[in-house]
This record gives sequence, C-alpha cells and structure tokens, in this order.
Amino acid sequence: LHFSEKISKSDIKNFQWTQKKYRDIYEIKAILDTKKNSIIKPNGISQIKIAQFEPNIVRVVFTDKEYLKTEYKINNNLLTISCKQIDTKIYKNSKKPQNVKKYISKVRVSNDRLIVTNSVNIKNIKRLKVALDNGQKLTIFQIDARLKPFNKKEFKSKYVDEIKVLRYTPQITRIVFADRREIDVKYEIKNNKIFFKVKRLSKKPVKVTKKAPAKIMRPNGKIIVIDPGHGGRDSGAIGYKKYQEKRLVFKVATKAKDLLRQRGYKVYLTRYKDKFLKLKDRTEYANSKNADIFVSIHANSIVKSKQKSVQGVETFFLSPSRSERAKRVAMTENQADIKDKSWYSKSLTSNILVKSNMIASNKLAIDVQKNMLASLNNHYKNVVDMGVRKGPFWILVGAQMPSILVEVGYITHPTEGSRLQNTKYQNLLAKGIADGIDSYFIKNQN
Ligand SMILES: [Zn+2]
Repeated sequence: LHFSEKISKSDIKNFQWTQKKYRDIYEIKAILDTKKNSIIKPNGISQIKIAQFEPNIVRVVFTDKEYLKTEYKINNNLLTISCKQIDTKIYKNSKKPQNVKKYISKVRVSNDRLIVTNSVNIKNIKRLKVALDNGQKLTIFQIDARLKPFNKKEFKSKYVDEIKVLRYTPQITRIVFADRREIDVKYEIKNNKIFFKVKRLSKKPVKVTKKAPAKIMRPNGKIIVIDPGHGGRDSGAIGYKKYQEKRLVFKVATKAKDLLRQRGYKVYLTRYKDKFLKLKDRTEYANSKNADIFVSIHANSIVKSKQKSVQGVETFFLSPSRSERAKRVAMTENQADIKDKSWYSKSLTSNILVKSNMIASNKLAIDVQKNMLASLNNHYKNVVDMGVRKGPFWILVGAQMPSILVEVGYITHPTEGSRLQNTKYQNLLAKGIADGIDSYFIKNQN
C-alpha cells in the first residue's frame, strides 16, 4: 500500500476475528484514493479486501477459512503486509496443489533478453504495469510456476535498470522489469522457455514531481505582522512606467498574508488599504499585536543614471552598523517620516536593540531571502541575489520582535520593474516570503 505521506506504527492497528472465518484486520489512518473497495483474491488465501471503513480509517481485511498469520513492514510511505505463514491445514483440506511440478529451472540474461526456463511448457502469463511514486515504472509478469529458493533473484542488464525475480506466492513467480524510463517488454513463449525482450522507449528518465513533504508541523498560532510599505500620500518609489511602490508592496503583502493564513498563522497587515501610516505606528502596531515577527515589504529604487544597471532582491535586518549601500537604501525608506528623525536616531543608538532579536532577525532575513530567490528562480531567469544586509532602518526600530525589511526588487529597472507589475511574479514573491517565514519558524520552534 502506497501512501501520500510517511506513515508510522501509530497509524496502524492490527487485530484478528475468528468467528466462522478467520480474519486478520488492519486499520490504517488514511483515506482511499478511490471510492471503490477492492477485493483481491490471491493464491493461498480466500481474499483481501481494502475499504474505507470510517471517513479517515481504511481497513485491509485478510480472510481465510483457516488460521493465517500476517506481518507488516513500514518503509516511509510504503506499507507492506505479508502472509508470514499459512497454516498447513489449508493444503490438507484443499486438493493437492496442481502445479507442484511447474517450477522455474533457470533464469538468465542474454543481451537485451531475459530467458526463463520452466520445468514444463508454459501456456499463459499475465502482465501488469505499475508506476511507483519515485518515478519507477514496473512491468511485471506473473508466471504460474514455483520459484525455487536457489533461483537467482536479481539480474543486471544494460537495457533496463533492474530485473528481479520474486516469489509472489508459493505457486506464482513474478518477473519484474523496473526502469525510470518508459520501457516496452515483449515476450515469446517457446515450449518451456519464455523470452522477454526489453527496450527503452525514451532516453530521458521520467521526471519525478516531488510531493510536498508529509505532515509538516507548522507552529500554529504564531503571529505575524506584515507591513506593506508607504501608503496614502506617501507613494514610495516611483518606478518603471510610473509604477508606484505603495501599490506593488500592498499586493505582495496581501498575497503573503493569504498564503500564511492558509498555513495556519495569525497574520495582520499594518494597513488594509491605501492609507498613510507613520513608520513608528507600524512597529507599535506589531508590538500591540504581540507579534512573533515583523516583516516590512518594500521595493527599491535608484537614480536615473543607474536605472538600467541596478536590480535585485535583498533583505535587511536592523542594525546600527551601516555600509554605504545599506545607508543609501535606508535613507530612501526613512524619508516618509523625517519629522520623527530624532526619536529614531535616539532609539537606534539606545538599548532598544535587543541582541537576541538581532540574531533572530538575521536568521529570518536569511530564510526569507533564500526562499524568495528559490521561488523566483524557478520561473524567471537572471534574478539578482543582492543578499542579506544590515541597515539602520527606522521602520524596524522599536519592534520588540525579530524584524526584517524585504526589498522585493528595483522598480526602476526596465526588466525587474516590469516583472514586478506582473501578477505571476508577485505570487512567486509572496510564496517565497511565506516559505521563508515557514522555514524560519520550523527551524526555530519555541
Ligand atoms: Zn519603500
């Protein structure tokens, strides 16, 4: 049984019923992918039934007239249940197995062929195809013959990734061809020999689409305040084709908020509409909400002479130390509130900067920057990584929690500025920010 995510022992209950028939029952916390129940009638036991027993419990029931014993193994998202031992009485009651004389006497590989030699003439074999989660395609042949313990089980061939010969039930042997590419296996029966001829249909391995990792434990109830920069009479930077920073960052912030709420966080925006806010009020709002982190979203700009050459995504965290570049960006972003300059300057140099917050802010900045880049690089070429920097940002002063300022790109750059107006690009930015926040909380859970 394949599951969409990792399963553990605690997801499984195994018990037996012995009225009339013998039943070995597995209850698994899961949902069946199909509405249909399946009944399998393998050799050796009466039946195996797989059904949705309760909305979130799947039952696998092994039924037989006689006592049977099963055991199971878990390997990540794979559950293998096997009949460990079938009571010998089953054979006493039934007639003598008819195919005792049918056994496989030899298996060998010759170029692109696998040759199976049987003790008697083989009339029919069954073909099955299975695609595994890991991208492997299996072509399975079921032969009505015993596999003797001394038969070789695995074969090497340059025509296919793997060839395995398995004892499926005491009387049935399976030949499995496994490959990451599409393969075609033809067979021909000549008396007591079966010739399998394998051919790869594609040169490239089948691409595996990775599923989201199972059961991500997201820190529930963490509070995030997202601050869309500027607003109202303060339009922020004016970019390529007169695009306004305040509009762009509002869109990205709103998208990030929606994503994070879907993931179970409590998220507030400092502004829900196009409205002017003082820088100080933004962090005060975060403090009043008892936020765990504060993320201010901005877009960058530069003087006309450099507009064609400067672009990129960068994330800042508050620090009094200042590089020339950080100082320049901070100057631009600080302008909205020039009147409160003395308060900010004082705060910057005073003890308001808690050191632990600075370390956490740095970590948060690294995670957000990394994930924004990853998200954008998946779909766009030449996105410039300007990295994580420290800067004297007034907007971050006074936040009593780890806080960062994200510059989603230069709206003054012809290419980046146009991309920033694109909804798909904004979605990717928001996803990157949300992934970064997720990653930060998952790594720093307390
Ligand atoms: Zn700004």
